[in-house]
Amino acid sequence: MQTATLFDLPAIQTGPQVAPAAAPAKKARRPRKVHASVPLMPSTTVPDKLIREADWVVVSSSGGKDSQAMLWYVVRRAKALGMLDKVVVVHADLGRVEWEGTRELAELQALLAGVRRFEVVQASGADLLDRVEIRYGKLKAKAEKEAVERGEDPTTAKVPPAWPSSAARWCTPDAKRGPIRTLYTRLTAELTHLGRPVRILECIGQRAAESSQRAKLAEVEINQGASNGRRHVTTWRPIHAWSDRKVWREIARSRLPYHPAYDWGNRRLSCVFCVLGCNSDLVNGARRVPELAAAYAETEVKVGADFKKGLSMREIIRRAQALEEAEGPAARPPMGTAMAEHIGWAETNKYRNRRAALYGLAA
Ligand code: SF4
Repeated sequence: MQTATLFDLPAIQTGPQVAPAAAPAKKARRPRKVHASVPLMPSTTVPDKLIREADWVVVSSSGGKDSQAMLWYVVRRAKALGMLDKVVVVHADLGRVEWEGTRELAELQALLAGVRRFEVVQASGADLLDRVEIRYGKLKAKAEKEAVERGEDPTTAKVPPAWPSSAARWCTPDAKRGPIRTLYTRLTAELTHLGRPVRILECIGQRAAESSQRAKLAEVEINQGASNGRRHVTTWRPIHAWSDRKVWREIARSRLPYHPAYDWGNRRLSCVFCVLGCNSDLVNGARRVPELAAAYAETEVKVGADFKKGLSMREIIRRAQALEEAEGPAARPPMGTAMAEHIGWAETNKYRNRRAALYGLAA
């Protein structure tokens, strides 16, 4: 076989030069206009002042451990201020991609914590898996159009991965942030008689310990994207500085039930297969909910990309099956296993007993 050498290159043309097709110019994003009344900085970062100044205190609950610990902490403070009636718990329902029973658990936690208003919001139309396919269609059409503009064969156009990732985390605004804003619109409408922008304090259970990205988040900031002339939204991350141990201590203190997925070994809840989840959580998900894992694997084929960079759902399923074969179907670990790992069995058993005595839940 002959190999190409420098001399095989086409001769340099000396005639009129044809300019190479220019890459399509990227549309510059227009900066979002922020209403003049929206403050640039929060007026305070002191928890009790934040609650006092708010018209609504909206606690975002995924049903997971961080939301749960945050809920109890915020409720304790609001109760002490005699302002529990301002507190609303909102759960963004993710449909089939979320751990079973999460919505019901979030509602039970809110009820047992003494919060009277629990709201469920949901993205309209497609769920996360369907959206991956829709997004793939759009990305493919765009890549092909750009290839044609460059004078290239569109069938060879490289389509970027349609799955969400830490760098392209479109799932959160689509499935959670956007639907939660519809609640803000309703809450704002209820207080139009105030004659001024309604002050919403949104409480989010993000913690610095979760990732370097989350560590950079401010504990209190104005959410300019969610604010407008009718409402001013302040984001408060009440447990931003908390450790895992502190989170579990707060749950023990609350006596509220937590999701059994933690006892199975999960570190995160929400989506069974979270793009940010650690590998053991994903394998655990494939063992507990194999039919959902199969649906993800089917979508991988349809969109021609792995669910996670360097880790396909097919591989996750393979690992889950290998564990099932080696260990057999695992028996459910004793309730409290996850908590005991962080705060020990002595405190965990107290939590279990108090929980049983107070709410009649299994010890
Ligand atoms: S849990 Fe993970 S995959 Fe699901 S919406 Fe949140 S970031 Fe995206």
